[in-house]
Amino acid sequence: MHDLCIVGGGVAGLATSIFTARAGLDTLVIDGGESILARNASLENYPGFPNGVDARRYLQLAREQAQNAGATFELGRVTRTERRDDDDPNAGFVLETDGGDPIEARRIVAASWSDSEYLVPLDVGRTQRGSKHFVSVDEAGRTAVDGVYAAGRLAGEPHQTIVAAGHGAKVGLAVIHDSDVNFYHDWVAPEGYFTGRGRDVPPGCEEIDDDERRERDERARETMLEAFAEPLDDQPTMHPSVERD
Ligand SMILES: Cc1cc2nc3c(=O)[nH]c(=O)nc-3n(C[C@H](O)[C@H](O)[C@H](O)COP(=O)(O)OP(=O)(O)OC[C@H]3O[C@@H](n4cnc5c(N)ncnc54)[C@H](O)[C@@H]3O)c2cc1C
Repeated sequence: MHDLCIVGGGVAGLATSIFTARAGLDTLVIDGGESILARNASLENYPGFPNGVDARRYLQLAREQAQNAGATFELGRVTRTERRDDDDPNAGFVLETDGGDPIEARRIVAASWSDSEYLVPLDVGRTQRGSKHFVSVDEAGRTAVDGVYAAGRLAGEPHQTIVAAGHGAKVGLAVIHDSDVNFYHDWVAPEGYFTGRGRDVPPGCEEIDDDERRERDERARETMLEAFAEPLDDQPTMHPSVERD
């Protein structure tokens, strides 16, 4: 059984997975299509890219980062979720997909932009605005059902990439907090930052020496140079109701 199944490998789901996988939770991301961000023509309000970034390249990099952190991915659309055992609220959940085998997970993060139909059997609490459904959550992304969370646009967050990513990270931290993982910051600090003051390195943090820092910087630069070396061929996805020749 997975510690966590994230439904939706878009902006919020990828951010959640980076945090939970780095915390050592067995994290499966299941995605049945493409992020709504694939419709963007140039992503220009995400901090860290002074002249913007191709949205498809950003998604590719975020996915690679999640994989490097240890998250695994499966293609498929989640169609239904239910409890593994109605008499035991801690027994986790079963997720059915279109085509694949059922997936078992202790926790679920719904990060599926506008699709929450698969959560109906769990009765998590949904609200409707216009034609769209949102999942009701507390300030950390927890729904009314223990072990089920929602992140990003589906949780009613504003419709921007940085907000969805930030919320996904915040929900990841809630999952970590609710799991058997020690108090956790996910900080990488220079050697001596904690130990130089006679403190232990806190759980989930790391101290690295200067050689290691340079090695990591080298690896980071190689990855980014390669990722940005060529223009991408992929076009933005057009709105489905727009007719094209
Ligand atoms: C045309 C356009 C331009 C935009 N431009 C900008 C911009 O310039 N700047 C900006 O900040 N934001 C922009 N956005 C908004 C941004 O794309 C969203 O706010 C952000 O992608 C929301 O993230 P999310 O994780 O909630 O949803 P998504 O990124 O859409 O991720 C949801 C994922 O869930 C998957 N999924 C859905 N249902 C299921 C299911 N049942 N089973 C499995 N997987 C499922 C989908 O395939 C998708 O990959 C734009 C959006 C559009 C449409």
